[in-house]
Amino acid sequence: METTAEGQAPVSFHVMAKPTGARCNLSCDYCFFLEKEELYPDSNFRMSDSVMEQYIRETIEAQEAPHATIAWQGGEPTLMGLNFFRRAIEIEKQYHRPGLTIENTIQTNGILFDEEWADFLAENNFLVGLSMDGPRDLHDRYRHNKLGDSVFDRVEQAARLMQQKGVEFNILCTVNAANAERPLDVYKYFRDELGARFLQFIPIVERAEDGTADIMVSERSVSGEAYGQFLSEIFDEWVRRDVGEMFVQTFDGVLASYVQGHSTLCIFQPTCGSGVALEHNGDLYSCDHFVDPEYLLGNITETTISELATSQRQQAFGATKSETLPQYCHDCEYKFACNGECPKNRLLTTPDGEPGLNWLCSGIKQFHTKTERPMRIMASLLMAGKEAGGVMALLSEESARTGRNDLCPCGSGHKYKRCCGTGCY
Ligand code: SF4
Ligand code: SF4
Repeated sequence: METTAEGQAPVSFHVMAKPTGARCNLSCDYCFFLEKEELYPDSNFRMSDSVMEQYIRETIEAQEAPHATIAWQGGEPTLMGLNFFRRAIEIEKQYHRPGLTIENTIQTNGILFDEEWADFLAENNFLVGLSMDGPRDLHDRYRHNKLGDSVFDRVEQAARLMQQKGVEFNILCTVNAANAERPLDVYKYFRDELGARFLQFIPIVERAEDGTADIMVSERSVSGEAYGQFLSEIFDEWVRRDVGEMFVQTFDGVLASYVQGHSTLCIFQPTCGSGVALEHNGDLYSCDHFVDPEYLLGNITETTISELATSQRQQAFGATKSETLPQYCHDCEYKFACNGECPKNRLLTTPDGEPGLNWLCSGIKQFHTKTERPMRIMASLLMAGKEAGGVMALLSEESARTGRNDLCPCGSGHKYKRCCGTGCY
């Protein structure tokens, strides 16, 4: 998602369509979307042909860039059946114009995947986001079907099918109270056993239903410290052997802040507002995380997506992120790469009593403190037109020539064995 300078309206927008609304064939404990079914009590939760056509046509026509993304997510979008997506591809062809590249993405739990699905996704170059929380015991901790049974084998099979058929896929892995304690088990499972190359880590921060100052989040939620530790341990493994081979969205999003001064991820950008969520009936909301009546922008059967996505209301939504940022964050040395993270996670008060500090702050800071040096090395390499992967050789040479009792080359003033020699660079 792109934004202009801080506080200005988005220059382009991205629509995430939910053709089945919140409807899903699983019942994951932490899913924030299932309760959204209550927004549409009499609905059949199926996007009509006309809403689909309008979504695709407007998304294609609105893009000035030579690239349009048609994004499907849920709920569980594959419940619409393959014919729905075949029809979507037909509509895309109808409105395609010379020079335009259309990318299709779909986020799924993979339960319904079979050969026919995999062939279709491969033929049409879909980029698939597959939800998985790690190896079997961690995946099964919070993700299960409506009867509470494990679906791990089905999901793993979906990943294997996609590999066989050459479908490009990302793993979308939540970071929760269970798997946060075993970061390397999670990472190595995806890398070594599943053979995945693209990973997204999404922290679970659920407000407790009767949240108090002491118990603000559900027990499934990840603490700030655990989140920071999870990312840091995986980064440590990644930066020594996997740069350029494995792609971790959070790492890329932070690295972009070092290279170009702002992140590629909305959670780390100064403002929100460039990614809107489209419900099955044409209702458009400010963001996937704010599908609530208060954030309903309008319906695309009555007003164009462009008008709604660039409306004053949406601009105000976007600007709130920076307008409500506590002074504590403004004074933070990592503001350029964090910007207070996602407003939905701003549950804490700052040490001086201002509301709006992010639940994950301590972990985000810990991660930045640990990774700043290699991030700066990678940024320098990239800005010099070199591969970021050069950092691996530099770190390896450095550790080979530095004695354990030498002063650390990072300039900390500490002995190497107590500084970068422990993996903190
Ligand atoms: S509310 Fe969160 S997820 Fe939505 S645009 Fe803002 S930072 Fe991104
Ligand atoms: S690391 Fe913490 S203090 Fe710094 S910008 Fe992020 S949330 Fe604010």
